[in-house]
Amino acid sequence: MDTPRNRERFIAGAVCPRCSEMDRIVVSVNGETRRCIACGFSEGRPEDNPLPLPTRVSRPAARRVETTAEVVKLVDPASSGKTEG
Ligand SMILES: [Zn+2]
Repeated sequence: MDTPRNRERFIAGAVCPRCSEMDRIVVSVNGETRRCIACGFSEGRPEDNPLPLPTRVSRPAARRVETTAEVVKLVDPASSGKTEG
């Protein structure tokens, strides 16, 4: 097992929001994720989160999807007819 030791850097004066330990927060080499080496807390940057959000979805076909989700299927355990050995 090779542990990447130089991949993360300590943030001077950073306090962990979970365990409140100082100088335990390390940042990844690209600076997108932070991690606490004391309690294992890890998080990404919420302000710079590249989520695949669907932009400009104003098509009338989207309303049909809502009506099709009203189908409720009930499964009776007695109609399964399985025997447990
Ligand atoms: Zn911590």
